Amino acid sequence: MEQDFIGKIIVVTGGTRGIGAAISKELIQRGAIVVAIYAQNDAAARRFLEGALDRSRVRTIKADVTDVAAIQSAFDQILKEFEKIDGLVNNAGIVRDGLIIRMKEEDWDSVLNVNLTGAFRCTRLAARAMMRQRAGAIVNICSVVAELGNIGQANYVTSKAGLVGLTKASARELAPRGVIVNAVAPGWIETEMTQKIPQEVRDHWLKLIPLQRLGKPEEVSALVCFLLSDRAKYITGQLFHMGGGLYM
Ligand code: NDP
Repeated sequence: MEQDFIGKIIVVTGGTRGIGAAISKELIQRGAIVVAIYAQNDAAARRFLEGALDRSRVRTIKADVTDVAAIQSAFDQILKEFEKIDGLVNNAGIVRDGLIIRMKEEDWDSVLNVNLTGAFRCTRLAARAMMRQRAGAIVNICSVVAELGNIGQANYVTSKAGLVGLTKASARELAPRGVIVNAVAPGWIETEMTQKIPQEVRDHWLKLIPLQRLGKPEEVSALVCFLLSDRAKYITGQLFHMGGGLYM
């Protein structure tokens, strides 16, 4: 694999499982030092560390993106050790599905807090360092439902649509300092998040995907790594779909 990330420090939230772990793994393989932030699943973080190609190029930090102090301290720790941040992937995300008429306030709030406000918090902290460096790349992991809408996911859809807004606003604000911000919208990807979906719902969605299959975390990772690489320096404020043609 190309070694085009040597010397780069990349922070991946939710980087120990699912899509985030695939992104972390590819970045490590391509020479980066990855800091994978996670919320509470220590066993998954341990498995991720044990499976890492080169343990010297990976750190895990347990810090919930909804906890302002914990996230501040995580970024302080990263900057103390590495003195820079070249890339940030805002990937941490949760679902708390339910129809609007039955949705609890706490389910609305928690999804918005993790998926959207969490990304804002990490962007704010990474952007300070990147603006000083006059370089950096941020990738926000959105979802195809941000543009399609989805029944039973008003909180999730709103959080991801908001993340598209955050992508464009931060892209404009940070561009003069050489920092690019883009978004990737996966469709249906095989992870623990989608394993919980009932078979009939999966079958319904499969009929709507032109490429007739779910995607793999590694396929999302390939696009995310491109957007973090030096080859993407003239791309900012864009949303890229990765959903087998589900949205076009
Ligand atoms: P998983 O549920 O497999 O993994 C989620 C990751 O996010 C875990 O590492 C988890 O940490 C971390 N996380 C969750 N909440 C927090 C928090 N409050 N603070 C810090 N980390 C947190 O998810 P996927 O890999 O499936 O999804 C990754 C991203 O891709 C999400 O943003 C999701 O919305 C998006 N996406 C996924 C799709 C899919 O089909 N899978 C489709 C479209 C978008 P821990 O292990 O500690 O729980």
